[in-house]
Amino acid sequence: MTFANELKKICPNRVLYKKEDVYTYAFDTSKNPDEIIMPAAVVFPKSAVEVSKIVKLAQKNNISIVPRAKGTNHIGSTRPIKNCIILHFSLMDKIIEINKENLIAVVEPNVAIGDLNFELDKLNLFFPPDPSNLAVSTVVGAVCLNSGGPRTFKYGNTKDYVINLEVVLADGTIVETACNIAKNVTGYNLTNLFTGSEGTLGIITKITLKLIPKPQTRLLTLAYFDSLTDAANCSNEIINSGFIPSTIDLIDNFTLKTIESFNPTGLLTDKKAALLIELDGFKESVLSEIKLLKEILIKMNAKNIVQTQDEKQNENIWKARRSAFSALSQVMPDVITEDIVVNRDKIVDFIEHVEFLSKKYNIIAAIMGHIADGNIHPNFALNLEDKNQKENFEKLKDELFYYALKIGGTLSGEHGIGVQKKKYLKDALNKNSYELMKKIKNLLDPNDIFNSGKSL
Ligand SMILES: Cc1cc2nc3c(=O)[nH]c(=O)nc-3n(C[C@H](O)[C@H](O)[C@H](O)COP(=O)(O)OP(=O)(O)OC[C@H]3O[C@@H](n4cnc5c(N)ncnc54)[C@H](O)[C@@H]3O)c2cc1C
Repeated sequence: MTFANELKKICPNRVLYKKEDVYTYAFDTSKNPDEIIMPAAVVFPKSAVEVSKIVKLAQKNNISIVPRAKGTNHIGSTRPIKNCIILHFSLMDKIIEINKENLIAVVEPNVAIGDLNFELDKLNLFFPPDPSNLAVSTVVGAVCLNSGGPRTFKYGNTKDYVINLEVVLADGTIVETACNIAKNVTGYNLTNLFTGSEGTLGIITKITLKLIPKPQTRLLTLAYFDSLTDAANCSNEIINSGFIPSTIDLIDNFTLKTIESFNPTGLLTDKKAALLIELDGFKESVLSEIKLLKEILIKMNAKNIVQTQDEKQNENIWKARRSAFSALSQVMPDVITEDIVVNRDKIVDFIEHVEFLSKKYNIIAAIMGHIADGNIHPNFALNLEDKNQKENFEKLKDELFYYALKIGGTLSGEHGIGVQKKKYLKDALNKNSYELMKKIKNLLDPNDIFNSGKSL
């Protein structure tokens, strides 16, 4: 029996293998590969048992597996390699349980984070990670990349909410990494090992998440500045004054202008930078914090301050902020988002270097970032069909990442490594820890069938 027929036996009517059907799976959100590689098949499992059978079959036939949720990662992590199947989780998208008393949710991999929060909202519960495209991004995508978003300064990344994973290992064994209990130091932390592993160590088929009560009130303050330095200094001052805002996001002038021309919402376009600050908690405490925050903003040279009063006004600003990526896509055919972390005392230095490189290589850089964490997202808008721009961008990228490493920063705060940053990984890690990671990969996936060639 051919491999495709064996797959069809495991997942009847849920296997694609014709060229015209699998072609779209050659791509994900990351920049198009130089060589378009199509998967041998795309298969849509419905259970861990089916996944286990597929893994055993792939092992027998020496075929790689590329797990895929919605394919919106920025790092080429769901891109096919030669002789692979795409394991697509769109049919495993149920919320299995929300337990309000225990503050726990159990979900299948492909539940969209937006859909989960829609259901949690009804119970006044909250899952904070927000990879900005949360209407699409799935829980498993966030788990595998350890996604973050604007609220990480106060609430942490996805790893801080994952308490148990059901995982199919390379020999087809189905394991649970822990149990469904929020506080647990029983044995090694296998849950954290698979979280952020980019589909290279095992296939996740069920996820248990820790939840928190939804803050009663959230209000946004948008403050504009005449320089990026003023904005960065102000962010530090807010934190040094004892605030723990759920968000402090930086938006530069180019991004403000682009969002405003794409989707006018009244953002000021003549200012060099804006800070978007969200405070949350009980209403009285948020209102009294806002008073103190305003004093700091004025002291730190904020020029215009816009204060929301309710959730509707919040959502208008969030919508504008979330549209930054699609707005930039109107400027040039390609937008590449990078994701670098530097310590807070190096933020200004790093941003100035991004601007320097943008001028040096004549590539548009629109800078945003979760500035409270030092997590900066320079978005580069360019035309990759233009050979010169493409070459220049590669040089820019090399200089950018090595500069970040030189000043004590690192390659990713929330997007991961994938194929896009793989070449820098060795230089970003301590030699022995890199070797240890290789040993872990070899131990868990000796034949390298899970997302081969990605990350390590
Ligand atoms: C406009 C835009 C804005 C964004 N903003 C942010 C942001 O602010 N913060 C942030 O953190 N991220 C951001 N992201 C990136 C975001 O992290 C990812 O888009 C998202 O979390 C990935 O979800 P996905 O469902 O598309 O997963 P995919 O891209 O399909 O997969 C992600 C990873 O999970 C692996 N995988 C999938 N399913 C499984 C499985 N069952 N078992 C094992 N491995 C699996 C894949 O192989 C891949 O390595 C943004 C992306 C976009 C497009």
